[in-house]
Amino acid sequence: MNYKELSNLIYPELAHTPEEYEAMYPARELPEGAKVTRLGPSPTGFIHLGNLYGAFVDERLAHQSNGVFYLRIEDTDDKRFVENAVETIITSLDFFGINFDEGVTQTGDIGTYGDYTQSHRGEIYRTFAKELLSKGLAYPCFLTEEEITAIREQQDAAKLTPGIYAGWSKYRDWDKDPAIEAEIISRLEAGEPYVIRLKSNGAANVSAEDAVRNTVVDAVRGELSVPENFQDIVIIKQTGIPTYHFAHVVDDHLMRTTHVVRGEEWLPSLPIHVELFHDLGWELPVYCHTAQLMKIGEDGNKRKLSKRKDPELSLDYYRSQGYHPAAVREYLLTILNSNYEEWREANPDAPIEDFEFTCEKMSSSGALFDLDKLNDVSKGVMLRIPAADIAAWLGKWSKEFAPEYAYVFKDMNYLEQILDIGRHDARPRADLVYARQIMDFISYFFEESFEIVDEYPAEAAADAEEIISRYLDSYDHSDDNEIWFSKIREIATDMGYAAKPKDYKKNPDDYKGHVGHVSTVIRIKLMGRAQSPDVWTIQQIMGEETVRARLSK
Ligand code: GLU
Repeated sequence: MNYKELSNLIYPELAHTPEEYEAMYPARELPEGAKVTRLGPSPTGFIHLGNLYGAFVDERLAHQSNGVFYLRIEDTDDKRFVENAVETIITSLDFFGINFDEGVTQTGDIGTYGDYTQSHRGEIYRTFAKELLSKGLAYPCFLTEEEITAIREQQDAAKLTPGIYAGWSKYRDWDKDPAIEAEIISRLEAGEPYVIRLKSNGAANVSAEDAVRNTVVDAVRGELSVPENFQDIVIIKQTGIPTYHFAHVVDDHLMRTTHVVRGEEWLPSLPIHVELFHDLGWELPVYCHTAQLMKIGEDGNKRKLSKRKDPELSLDYYRSQGYHPAAVREYLLTILNSNYEEWREANPDAPIEDFEFTCEKMSSSGALFDLDKLNDVSKGVMLRIPAADIAAWLGKWSKEFAPEYAYVFKDMNYLEQILDIGRHDARPRADLVYARQIMDFISYFFEESFEIVDEYPAEAAADAEEIISRYLDSYDHSDDNEIWFSKIREIATDMGYAAKPKDYKKNPDDYKGHVGHVSTVIRIKLMGRAQSPDVWTIQQIMGEETVRARLSK
């Protein structure tokens, strides 16, 4: 039996030849330099910040170059499949402004390079596995778990690299041993389980200096010198389903992907992919191995974000907390490209798409994710969004994630005024960060959520009642900011408080406190808290009736 006969024995009937697939999925007609990228998430139901981070790179590379960005569902790991996971992937990414040109959508595939779901592509993988079999570049392997364990123990004892490679699976060299050839045929005919392994050309257990190395271009990391693979890795599992290694190579070739953006956890298997591309006679895509997302852990050291410990790893976190998608995008770009912040400073109002994203400017050694920094960035982004848009967006957020705040949206005009306080000042106030924080920040504007949270300052606590009653007596809603404050100053000095904080500081024994303590009493009575934007402005927005009602309570 020759290789071709073996391949026919294993896959007797296939609809197409490799050549036919090549013709069905021809090179794409795109402008010079256009990049074709893809996101290949597994439908595990958990879509995380790392996915978004990678998707952003894919999206920018493709759309910046008038290329194509497509969604491929990598569901070859059947254990991990979760209902509705594909929908979750699409809607979560869409929320953050990540849109695909091609691939899986909620209403079926778009594009002519599909099917875009790996579990629907079995026939294609078998065709190319058959191709490798027919060239003697792959073989069926019947080793059982127990046999593989025994092999590993032997290898451990002999201090050899573990794995199945030349010399370890007797099925590898079936063509040199008629007894094994016969065994393979009878086992195949009996329908016994087997995997298909790559028959690697690499040399195992050679010293580092003697190892053959290949140069691979990585757009993030530059030229990588990659040792050759020597493992006979599984390409088709016992179930007939391909491994990630094989599926990725076949798909990225046939879908004419130019740039493969994926996490650096795939770097160790790059040698395998190099060999597979080579064996199939295909050109390698440009790899972009992105750095892991890290954070400063509780002990002050950098560590990987963890699903268990860090709620901020989940994309749902940002949606339920109510981060504006533009803020998350903006922040991601600051960690994606080291020159982004500088660009933003020079172009404060430019759309994000004007920034020229490059893989070369990505960190290759761990991208530091920091919620405080996100909050900071978010403040700036929120300042650039008109209050009316923020109000509408908050309303949508509340409907989906926090219906308990429905009362905030009864009067949108009122809400817009509240949100806009101090945002057009010479030094604009940047109070708005994310929806839940905003709900808290503006809570005192609504009777439903107004509560006194701070205590009167000690210097004026004893006088609080009198301060409030004098203030109420003098209150004229039509006073401008200046007259309004002069009245407070008058109350303060009249009651033995310094007109200026510095006077009190200089001669603390001469006064009970200063005007700031007096106004804080008023602030707490009206807003429930010691810190807030300008009291006069807030009173004007709240309206006379509310102001008087709160003061007289
Ligand atoms: N399906 C792979 C994963 O879940 C994607 C890796 C790739 O993009 O090649 O990590």
